[in-house]
Amino acid sequence: MGNIVAIVGRPNVGKSTLFNRLTETKEAIVDEVSGVTRDRLYGKSVWGGKEFSVIDTGGYVKGSDDIFEDEIRKQVIIAIEEADVILFMLDVTTGITDLDMEVARLLRKIKKPVFLISNKVDNHERIAQSSEFYKIGLGDVYSVSSINGSGTGELLDDVIKVFTESTERDDDDLPKITISGRPNVGKSSLVNALLGEERNIVTPIAGTTRDSIGTRYNAFGFDFVLVDTAGLRKKTKVTENLEFYSVLRSIRSIEKSDVVLVMIDAMEGLQSQDMNIVHIAQRNHKGVVILVNKWDLMERETNTARDFEEKIKRKLAPFTDVPVLFISVQEKQRVLKALEEALKVYENLKRKIPTRKLNDALLPVIEKNPPPATKGKYVKIKYITQLPTYGPCFAFFCNLPQYVKEPYKRFLENQLRERFNFNGVPIRVFMRKK
Ligand code: GDP
Ligand code: GDP
Repeated sequence: MGNIVAIVGRPNVGKSTLFNRLTETKEAIVDEVSGVTRDRLYGKSVWGGKEFSVIDTGGYVKGSDDIFEDEIRKQVIIAIEEADVILFMLDVTTGITDLDMEVARLLRKIKKPVFLISNKVDNHERIAQSSEFYKIGLGDVYSVSSINGSGTGELLDDVIKVFTESTERDDDDLPKITISGRPNVGKSSLVNALLGEERNIVTPIAGTTRDSIGTRYNAFGFDFVLVDTAGLRKKTKVTENLEFYSVLRSIRSIEKSDVVLVMIDAMEGLQSQDMNIVHIAQRNHKGVVILVNKWDLMERETNTARDFEEKIKRKLAPFTDVPVLFISVQEKQRVLKALEEALKVYENLKRKIPTRKLNDALLPVIEKNPPPATKGKYVKIKYITQLPTYGPCFAFFCNLPQYVKEPYKRFLENQLRERFNFNGVPIRVFMRKK
């Protein structure tokens, strides 16, 4: 599990500019999940060989002026709770404002590492101006220009030094499952339905210094860890129903899990925030199961479920090979089925296809439907192999990898999905030079 870096500060200091700079990395492997567009809130970055998540806490409160103070206070509180490292950004062109002091006051109380950034230091004169920020009393000041990138390397060099190495046991092979979703969809009810009976709980698993991973569950033939059940039950200090906060809260749990149960309310359908959750899962190569809860409240006709599922899949496209289950936690309908599905997806996530089998299955199809010629050049795919990564990742070795475009990669992904069971699991397809 990677570390989480949050960028906080008042509006217009340049948080999203820095966020974009950090997450627009060209280092392969980080992204490459088809159909996942860049997110304004959450991204992955790599520096010095260390992969980490970046959250721009300003992402959702752009615009008006008067709500700010309160909003920013909440952002900072959540960032403090959820992140490992905090980047506190100030604007050298405006100097210290009251709002900056307010944020600083919150940050002084915490034990997590805080990096004070003087942004918009586009030239040398401004470096001197940055020294004003030492007055804030949060230690060193990092002068950067998020626009042209200067100073960001030095900052990151120091940021990755304070990362905590994961002490979680990666060797335990138990599937880790988390339940994610907007407030009131029924997450706690599901946890209660599963864990309510104490005899089903084996042992609380000792996890990191930060918190425990979750609860091991062993009943009805299921053996897995339910991640962050305590966090679920805990009522937050921030009570608003703002999408930003619950997405933020989900990030760590998703990163700790193998399979994410994305729970939605049958009456509300799949909303943009749910899509954010699915994208975060995809970016982290986690399995996904969509649970449509409160199905008992729906007026059902013959095709209600089918139509509902189609609507969901249109929104999920191109990642449509995902199980969708209609459940009612209240009526205890298909609750165990949800677990069963999650464990199947876990199997799919771990699935390794032998090279021989892959080539036998795919080379004939590729021969029949080769990549379209570009500039009169023909791409010849020689062989395929699954890489030993977390989550399925396939390398197609060929003469001219740069000529294979997204639609053809998607075609290959679909061929893989048709022949092998990767239901609920994001797939990565790479073209490699032979
Ligand atoms: P946020 O509200 O904190 O996310 O701030 P933005 O990233 O949206 O930036 C606010 C404004 O400051 C935009 O017009 C940016 O182009 C500008 N900006 C951001 N970083 C820099 C910088 O390093 N130098 C200069 N000169 N402008 C910057
Ligand atoms: P959470 O905020 O996602 O943890 O949601 P809760 O588990 O607290 O549930 C919110 C409300 O939805 C509660 O009043 C539950 O009783 C209700 N609820 C949960 N599951 C169902 C269901 O399957 N059907 C109906 N009708 N209500 C449900």
